[in-house]
Amino acid sequence: MAEGDLPGREELLRRIPSVDEVIQSELLARLGPSVSRQEILSSVRMGLARLREEILRAEPEELSMLPQDRTRLAQRAGLEAIRLLGPSLRRVINATGVIIHTNLGRSILAKEAIEAVEEVASRYSNLEFDLDAGRRGSRQVHAEGILRRLTGAEGALVVNNNAAAVLISLNTLAKGREVVVSRGELVEIGGSFRMPEVMAHSGACLREVGTTNKTHVRDYEAAIGPETGLLLKVHQSNYRIVGFTQEVHLDALVQLGTSRGIPVMVDLGSGCLLDLTAWGIGREPTVQETLKSGVDLVTFSGDKLLGGPQAGIILGKGELVRRIRGNPLHRALRVDKMTLAALEATLRLYWDPSEAVRRVPTLRMMVMSQGDVRRRAGLLAARLRRLVPPEVCVSVRREHSQVGGGSLPLVELPTWVVGLKVEGVPALKLEQALREGVPPVIARILKEEVILDLRTVQEEEVPTLAGIVAMACRGLSSVSRGEGEAT
Ligand SMILES: *Cc1c(COP(=O)(O)O)cnc(C)c1O
Repeated sequence: MAEGDLPGREELLRRIPSVDEVIQSELLARLGPSVSRQEILSSVRMGLARLREEILRAEPEELSMLPQDRTRLAQRAGLEAIRLLGPSLRRVINATGVIIHTNLGRSILAKEAIEAVEEVASRYSNLEFDLDAGRRGSRQVHAEGILRRLTGAEGALVVNNNAAAVLISLNTLAKGREVVVSRGELVEIGGSFRMPEVMAHSGACLREVGTTNKTHVRDYEAAIGPETGLLLKVHQSNYRIVGFTQEVHLDALVQLGTSRGIPVMVDLGSGCLLDLTAWGIGREPTVQETLKSGVDLVTFSGDKLLGGPQAGIILGKGELVRRIRGNPLHRALRVDKMTLAALEATLRLYWDPSEAVRRVPTLRMMVMSQGDVRRRAGLLAARLRRLVPPEVCVSVRREHSQVGGGSLPLVELPTWVVGLKVEGVPALKLEQALREGVPPVIARILKEEVILDLRTVQEEEVPTLAGIVAMACRGLSSVSRGEGEAT
């Protein structure tokens, strides 16, 4: 053994307990009969494999921080096994203030949408059955009707997401032909949606025009030829080009398309159905006004500003939408009944805009007043001050929240946050401890301080949040005082 009484790597590996020892440990013995033996065995094996990995990977100076005796090693593997027995996809508390957070599930659904999902998920439905005719029908009729009535579009189609909507539209209208796009609009959305790549996969040829900061009508004009299949405008979702700039107004593009007999499509990205300026939030072009300008097709997401389930919505001229529906890709990109149920229920809330901002959580969080956020931050801070040890500093102050999801990138919503600092503990450690909570809390770090933005924390989550924060702070401050080791 190299250092004092501490066992080395080899010795630790020898001390790794058997599967049976872990199963019989107190932690796992407490699991009821509802968990099958096969599942327990599999997760214990995985827990042990991870423990072995951990020992093998540890730097020499980290070995002493691992559990040293067999009982503690069994505990560690047992804890990991229990974690594996839980679901992988689970709820978290979003304290980031980013309302449409793509990594955290984008929009949370309205109560009405959840009830609609439950109804069609637990019963048979008329998903593809025409109740009047008594024979096979189309799943598309359900969302189509309300989409057309709400927006005035002639045709409507719902697919898996907006990436799919763009892909199938380009493939149907411009396969083997050219699609004219401004160089200022060749966007990349987080993940892997890059307009030029989607275009390539659709079989259409990208014809870039203009420059990054300026594109004129004459640039589009000059690019039009016998190969042109479509004029495409992409909404600059997650960025803005400012300064010496020029983009072609949609009306001018529509005029050009009409005079040359070439369809015009707009990828709107977010798909806002309400004029948000009425609530003092920034301007985002609405779906209705985009259609009114005379474009042939509009596509947008269901789970961004619309506040519904993941979906891609295609609206526009009846004839074009019919052609897209007939594309064999449609079968591969179609949505399931739960999506359709949630989408239809969400859309119904839009008949009355003031109801929509009360009931659609994404909109509700956006229009939430500063006073309301402040009150919620105050509630959390008051609870925390009673629960946390004295070396934790709890403050309430102003900050800014973001809409997220590539919507309104320049809008900063004034908000109130709870700031947390634990004496002698780096903010990163606290942020990590919060992520280990049940449920995990996702927070931001700003200038060496952990901040919790109450705009995206639901009122009924505040007591739970306080409990998790208090637990994390207590664990960390006892470690920083040297009162034993966190396991
Ligand atoms: C978000 C976005 C997409 C991708 O939408 P998904 O629904 O995530 O597939 C495509 N285009 C634009 C302009 C977007 O903002």
